[in-house]
Amino acid sequence: MIIIKGIAASPGIIIARAHVLEDEEIVVTRIELPPDQLKNEVQRFKAAQRETHRDLDAAEAKVLKLLGKEHAKLIDTHRLILRDTLITHDVPQRILKERVNAEFALSETLEVVNRQFEKLDDEFFRERRHDLFDVGKRLLGHLLKHSRRSWSGIEQPCILIARNLLPSDTINLKESLILGFATDLGGKTSHTAILAQSLEIPAVVGLSDISRRVKQGDTVILDGEQGLVIIHPTSEAMAKYQKIRQQAQEEERALGSLRGMPAVTQDDKRLRLQANLDSPEELKSLLALQPDGIGLFRTEYLYMNRPAAPTEEEQTKAYASVLKAAAPQPVVIRTADIGGDRLTQMGIEGPQNEVNPFMGLRGVRLFLRHLDLFKTQLRAILRAAAKGNAQILIPMVSSVAEVHAVRRLIAQASSELQAEGVDVPKNIELGIMVEIPSAAVLIDAFIAHVDFVSVGTNDLIQYTLAVDRVNEHVSHLYDPLHPAVLRLLQAVAQTARKAGKWASVCGEMTSDPHAVPLLVGMGFESLSVSPRMFLRIKQTVRRLNQGAMAKLVAKAAACADSEDVRRLMREQGL
Ligand code: PEP
Ligand code: MG
Repeated sequence: MIIIKGIAASPGIIIARAHVLEDEEIVVTRIELPPDQLKNEVQRFKAAQRETHRDLDAAEAKVLKLLGKEHAKLIDTHRLILRDTLITHDVPQRILKERVNAEFALSETLEVVNRQFEKLDDEFFRERRHDLFDVGKRLLGHLLKHSRRSWSGIEQPCILIARNLLPSDTINLKESLILGFATDLGGKTSHTAILAQSLEIPAVVGLSDISRRVKQGDTVILDGEQGLVIIHPTSEAMAKYQKIRQQAQEEERALGSLRGMPAVTQDDKRLRLQANLDSPEELKSLLALQPDGIGLFRTEYLYMNRPAAPTEEEQTKAYASVLKAAAPQPVVIRTADIGGDRLTQMGIEGPQNEVNPFMGLRGVRLFLRHLDLFKTQLRAILRAAAKGNAQILIPMVSSVAEVHAVRRLIAQASSELQAEGVDVPKNIELGIMVEIPSAAVLIDAFIAHVDFVSVGTNDLIQYTLAVDRVNEHVSHLYDPLHPAVLRLLQAVAQTARKAGKWASVCGEMTSDPHAVPLLVGMGFESLSVSPRMFLRIKQTVRRLNQGAMAKLVAKAAACADSEDVRRLMREQGL
C-alpha cells in the first residue's frame, strides 16, 4: 500500500480503478463546424502557427547555448516544415472544405503525408517524418491547450489520474464515468478545484508525481477530505474507508434539518447565506438547499469549449431561467471572468500567449478590450433582469476608472434596449469584486461608485501573498488566515458599512468552517458559499456569537503571523 499526500481540492471518498491519462496522449476529435465559424477556425490555426514559431525561437536559443551553432540548425528544418504549404495551405483548405476543427484537419493532413513517407525506400528520408510529427505535435499542443479533452473513450467507472486538468476539461467530467480525479499539479482554489466541488466530484491535486506512480487499472482510494491518494490499499484500509463513507452519509442527512432555517448567530445577528452557482446543471440541487439567493453566478461556462462567443439570445435565456428559478431571491450575475486558468477556444487576441496569465488580460480587463463581448453580456443581463431579482458584479477590478467605464457601458446598453422597446430595470444594483489588493486598499474611493462589494478571497489571497492559486509548489503559503489578508477584509467590511453599502464574501474562504467565524466577526452582511458546504457553514454560523467574534477579529488582525491567529482560534475552540 502506498499513501501519497496532496491538496484536498474537493471533498468525498472514492474507491475505484485508476484511469491514467498519459501526458502525451493527444485525443483529437472531429468536430463539424457551422459555415460562419470556419474563418475563425482558420484564424485559430494561424495563431497556433505563430505560437509554434515562438516555441522554435525559444528552442533555438536554448540549443545554441547548450550545444552550439551546428545543432541549432535542426530548428531550421522545423521552421521550414512550419512554412511548408502542407501546413500553411493544405490544413486551412481542409478546415474550409470539410468544415472541421483545426486539430482534426491537421492530424488528417499529417496522416496522409505519413503514408507517403512510409513508401520511401531511403531510410534517411523515411525517418524525416519524425521532424514533421514533432512540428505537428507542437501545433496540436497549442490548439488543444484551449480545447476540451474527450472522455468518451472511458468505459468503466474510474478515478482519473493526470498531470493536470484545465477547467475546460473538468466541466465535462460529470457526463463521464470519472468518479473523481487526482493530479500532479493544481491548488485548492484553482478553477479546476472549484468546478470539481460544485460538480461534487471528489478531487486531490498537487500530488507532484502521482501520474507516474499509478499504473493503469490499479485500485485506488481517493480521499478528498484529507487530500490523500492510496494505491493498492490493504483490506483494512478498504474497510476503514467504507466506514468513513457511511459516517459521512449519515452526517449529511443530519445537516439536512437545517434547510430553510435562518443563518442567525447565537446573539441574533441575521446573515444572508447564499450559494455560488458555477453551471446551470447545479441549479436544481442548489435551490433545494434554500439559500438566501445566489451570491455568485459564474458565467464563464457559457464561453468555454466552443469556437464562438454565446449570442445575446442564448445568454438572455440562460440568465432568465436562473433568475426565474431563484425569484424572489436575488441572483448576483458576474460578468465573465475569462483569462487566467479559464481559457476559451474563441480565438480572442491576448490571453493565449501570456507568460503570467493570472496577472494578464482577464475579467473586466479583457472585456474592456473586447467591448462587443462585454456589451452583448450586459444587454443579455439587462434583458433577463425583468424575470427576477438581478444584480451585476464585475470581476478583476483594479481601478475606479474601470467602474466608470462599466457604468457608461451599462447606461449605453440600457438606452439602446429602451429604444428597441425592451423593458429595462431602472436601478439594477452594480457591484465590484474586491479581489485585487488595489481595490481593497482603496476601498473608500471605490465604495462611492458602487451599490455593493463582494470579496473574492481566492484571488485576493493569491495577489496579496503572491501565491499562484494553481501552483502546488507554493500552496503551503496560500493562507486565508494571514493577518495581511484579514486586515484587508476587515477594511472592506468596515468601509462598506460606514458608507451604507452591503458587503459580501464569495471566495472559497466562506466554505472553510475555520475561517467563517472571522468573516462573521468582521460584520459581512452576506456570505456566498460553495453548495457542497452550504449546510455545514450554516451550522457553523448558527453556533457563533457575532459580538464575541468581532472581538476575536480585532485580536486576530493585530497578530504578526497566521500561526498566532490559529492559536487564538484554538483557544476559543474554533
Ligand atoms: C474569487 O476570486 O474569490 C472568486 C470568487 O472568483 P473566481 O474564483 O471565479 O476567480
Ligand atoms: Mg476571482
